Amino acid sequence: MSTYKIGFIGLGNMGAPMAHNLAAAGHTVTGFDTAGTTADGVAVASTVQDACAGADFVITMLPNGDILRAVAADVLPSMKAGATLIDCSTVDVESARDVGASAASMGLGFVDAPVSGGVGGAAGGTLTFMAGGSEPSFNAAAPLFDIMGQKTVHCGDAGAGQAAKICNNMILGATMIATCEAFALADKLGLERQKMFDVVSTSSGYSWSMNAYCPAPGVGPTSPADNDYTPGFAAELMLKDLGLSQQAAEAVDADTPMGALARALYAQFVEEEDGRGRDFSAMLPRLAARSRGN
Ligand code: NAD
Repeated sequence: MSTYKIGFIGLGNMGAPMAHNLAAAGHTVTGFDTAGTTADGVAVASTVQDACAGADFVITMLPNGDILRAVAADVLPSMKAGATLIDCSTVDVESARDVGASAASMGLGFVDAPVSGGVGGAAGGTLTFMAGGSEPSFNAAAPLFDIMGQKTVHCGDAGAGQAAKICNNMILGATMIATCEAFALADKLGLERQKMFDVVSTSSGYSWSMNAYCPAPGVGPTSPADNDYTPGFAAELMLKDLGLSQQAAEAVDADTPMGALARALYAQFVEEEDGRGRDFSAMLPRLAARSRGN
C-alpha cells in the first residue's frame, strides 16, 4: 500500500476518529481545528496551511458550506500540484460544485464525499461514502475511503455525493415522522406497539426507521429510543440535512412537499420545543403527547 501525507481539517466528533483511522493505517496525518482539538496518532499544525503543505490529500470535515468555502480559499492555493481535496462534510450541493470548480481551475483533484454511519461508523471505520468527482479524483481517493469506511458509491461528478446524501436523508426524515405518527395513532387506537412492530416490520409499511432504528422504546432492535433518545443522530443534524434538501429543491425547482413538511416539523421540534440534543426518533414521544390541531 502507498503511504500518503494527509492534511485533515476539522477534528470534531466525526473528523477526529476518521483522522485517527488514517494514521493507524500507516499514513502521515497532520490535523488542524480552530477549536484546538487533536486526534490520537495525528500531528497538530498551528495553521491550516501548515497542515496541508506538501500533502497528497487534504480532507475536510466541517460544519457547513460557508466554512468549507472559507477553508478551501485558504488551502487550495497552498496545495501541491496534483494533490486532491476530499470534503467529507455535509454541505449544500452548490458549495461542493463551486469548491470542485476552484480546485479543477488550479489543477487539483476534488471529491465531495459526505458520509452516513455517524460517530460510531467514524470510530469503527465503517462509514458509507457517497462520492462525487471526476474518475481520476475518485480513483485517487478510493483507498482512503476503504480505510475510513466499508462502502463507497461513486455517484457522479462534483456535487453528486451531496445530492445523494440529502435525497437519502429527506427520505429518512419523512419516513421517521410517518413511522412515529403511526405509533402515536396506534397508541390511541389501543394497538400495542410490539404488535404494530410485528406487523409493519414484515409488511409494506416497513422501512429502515421501523426495522433498524425503531423509535418505540423496548420494541425492535436496540436503538436510541432505548437510551432515552440520546443521539444517535441528533434532531438538529436531521434539521440541517432537511434544510439542505429544501435549499437544493428550490434551486432546481423540484416539488418536494413531504420533505418541506418534514423540515418544518423538525424546525418546530428543535427551535421551539425540546428537540435539540435529542435523537431524531424522539418525534415519537413528541407526537404521542399531542392531539389534533396543536
Ligand atoms: P463537529 O462540530 O463535532 O466538528 C466540526 C469541527 O470543525 C469542529 O471541531 C470545529 O471546531 C471545526 N471547525 C470549524 N470551523 C473550522 C475552520 N475554519 N477550520 C478548522 N476547523 C474548523 O461536527 P461533526 O459531528 O464532526 O460533523 C462534521 C460534518 O459531518 C458536518 O457537516 C455534519 O453534518 C456531518 N455529519 C455528521 C454526522 C454525525 O453523526 N455527527 C453524521 C454524518 C455527517
